[in-house]
Amino acid sequence: MIKIGITGGIGSGKTTICRVFETLGILVFYADTVAKQIMVEDEILIKGVKDTFGHESYFGDGTLNNKYIANIVFNNEAELSKLNQLVHPAVFRAFDVWAANLKTEVPYVLKEAALLFESGSYKMCDKNILVTAPLELKLNRVMKRDQVTADQVQARMDKQFTDEQKMKMADYLIHNDESNSLILQVLELHQLFLNIKH
Ligand code: ATP
Repeated sequence: MIKIGITGGIGSGKTTICRVFETLGILVFYADTVAKQIMVEDEILIKGVKDTFGHESYFGDGTLNNKYIANIVFNNEAELSKLNQLVHPAVFRAFDVWAANLKTEVPYVLKEAALLFESGSYKMCDKNILVTAPLELKLNRVMKRDQVTADQVQARMDKQFTDEQKMKMADYLIHNDESNSLILQVLELHQLFLNIKH
């Protein structure tokens, strides 16, 4: 089974594109959603977080004290990096378990992650897709979707690699803008992945 990573800057449309692949029957591992789940499920990760940031990281009932963690890592690169060094390996483990336990034979799967390149996760995929879109379009999409200001979106963008950096690491590009057909680009890649030799 081939593993395909898919990423893109905030508002590029990677989740939307994964939904299109899903309509073709392709299974998608949503790394950012899984990361949230395993914060309260993965024992190794929970222990790591408590050892690093203190037992206050979790409430008595086992739920995550989001506010406490967010306060520590907000605008603190060193603390954020410590958290990422705990979470990223845990997501890698979760992906391996997910892929190993798939019930059906599939030609390829997608791993969607906002920080695919930043986390090093792309190295574990056979091929990687970068979704791109013009800045203006990305800003407008996220402002509309999340009801936030352009400055707030820009602040989130500043924490990610630029498209230029990511393009150097990507095998394929999807241009999710108003002048390229999304469906045709997805179908073309789908056909290509079906033909990759296992
Ligand atoms: P994030 O990193 O913030 O999760 P994302 O890259 O996953 O963003 P999406 O959530 O897929 O992006 O898309 C952002 C918004 O733009 C959504 O509201 C989505 O419906 C819209 N959008 C994405 N692509 C298109 C498109 N081709 N046509 C119309 N709307 C789109």
